[in-house]
Amino acid sequence: MFKKFIVIIVTITLFITIGCSRITPPVDANIPQDKQTGPQEDQDSSTNPLPPPETENSDTFMLKIGEATKDTISYRDIASVAVLVNKQNELPSDYVPPDLVEVNIPFTFKEKVEKRLMRQEAAEKLAELFAVAKKENIILYGVSGYRSYQTQKSLFAYFTQRDGSEEKANLISARPGESEHQTGLAMDISSQSVNFGLVENFGDTKEYAWLKDNAHNFGYVIRYPKGKEHITEYSYEPWHLRYIGKDLATKLYEEKITYEEYLFFKI
Ligand SMILES: [Zn+2]
Repeated sequence: MFKKFIVIIVTITLFITIGCSRITPPVDANIPQDKQTGPQEDQDSSTNPLPPPETENSDTFMLKIGEATKDTISYRDIASVAVLVNKQNELPSDYVPPDLVEVNIPFTFKEKVEKRLMRQEAAEKLAELFAVAKKENIILYGVSGYRSYQTQKSLFAYFTQRDGSEEKANLISARPGESEHQTGLAMDISSQSVNFGLVENFGDTKEYAWLKDNAHNFGYVIRYPKGKEHITEYSYEPWHLRYIGKDLATKLYEEKITYEEYLFFKI
């Protein structure tokens, strides 16, 4: 009788435990559960509330950083054009790309400053992209390329002081080391149609439409697309282009996925 009682208690306990684990939603450390707004790394962009995470991604975002599905991609190698830089993968404070050159494109400013620079391969491909775009009557301008760790640090300190805390600053500015601009592989691009600004409605222009469909042919991707904010942890930034190499850019374009999804999702 006592044994039977124990068996019943154990059975009930097991039933409750299994039941609870079934109704607990999947939690993944890579998905910010509490993020309603994301950081923007570009000083002159506005903050926008992020859309709620799509529940399907909670299930598909299976792997954590360090468990990448694509072992052949050197996303941890800072010398590689495929280097991954985000909130989980930061660059060393003393990292300066070894082959920075001035990009041969029109800029929205005249000064000879570091934001004209990119790594050589990225610079050559971007100049090609701009030239082909121009032939098709798409006139683009560079706004901001390479940004040193020190520049990003000053920018972040400015926002921290202005907004009262690092947390608040981080909503509109990347922490030093977490900006792709330090890789020398990113360029913010704009057009006359949006007054050369880094604004969300650049995403509604014919210039953006052209970039979206053609950038991969030159090894570039729109790094922070709309609807993927909960994965990239950055707000929608239609102006931010990242050089990643033609093969990889083409894969991301064809599958309509971000680099994080490519590396860490089971697809
Ligand atoms: Zn940018």
